[in-house]
Amino acid sequence: MKIPFIDIHTHNGQNSEETFAVQSLFLQDIGKTGVVNFPFSAAIHPWHVDKYNLVEINQMLEKIIADKNLLAIGETGLDKGCTSNYERQKEVFNLHIELAHAIHKPLIIHAVKSWNELVPIIAQIRVPIILHGYSQGLNLTRQLIDLGCYFSAGKLALNPSASFVEALTIIPLKSLLFETDDSMIPIEKIYDQVAGLLNVSVELLKNQVYENYFTIFPESRELELK
Ligand SMILES: [Zn+2]
Repeated sequence: MKIPFIDIHTHNGQNSEETFAVQSLFLQDIGKTGVVNFPFSAAIHPWHVDKYNLVEINQMLEKIIADKNLLAIGETGLDKGCTSNYERQKEVFNLHIELAHAIHKPLIIHAVKSWNELVPIIAQIRVPIILHGYSQGLNLTRQLIDLGCYFSAGKLALNPSASFVEALTIIPLKSLLFETDDSMIPIEKIYDQVAGLLNVSVELLKNQVYENYFTIFPESRELELK
């Protein structure tokens, strides 16, 4: 069997012979039926929380929770770098966390300048947590490793800060994932770069991430590549 490159968080990636991609959808963009025919995650992004009230968000979430292609709730989280009301971001994040707990799905978390508040929240979460676009330094990374988080490296790994390179070396391989997010960079390139930084082979990372995927999503069977 051929092991694919897993792209755990993408807004425009495609499944191909080589790649298994989890599409990240903005909840409000999902059609009226709520049916999606590819693996996906969905949530109201912190950037969009001011546009919908909690009743509307709940109604949108209810349409997708039974979809067998829904793998995770996200991206959701806290972003102090955007103009959205921060209190509203917390409310919506909380709503998503409660849903993830209720339906036992992992959370894909978006964090910008909000780690101080996020760490205690993360400590209370009881489903797998994927930190998308991760590029933080050693101290925070240590805390997040202790909390059992998964770390998804993306385009920032191509031009990493010295502190992120240091942090990468302490992240257990069993907690590592990769993503393209909103970039057009091929996922292979990110695996290749991190393999170089860690001085391991791309093959080893591919196999490890494949295993990590099934630890996070144990109900998934063999990945269907199209
Ligand atoms: Zn994203």
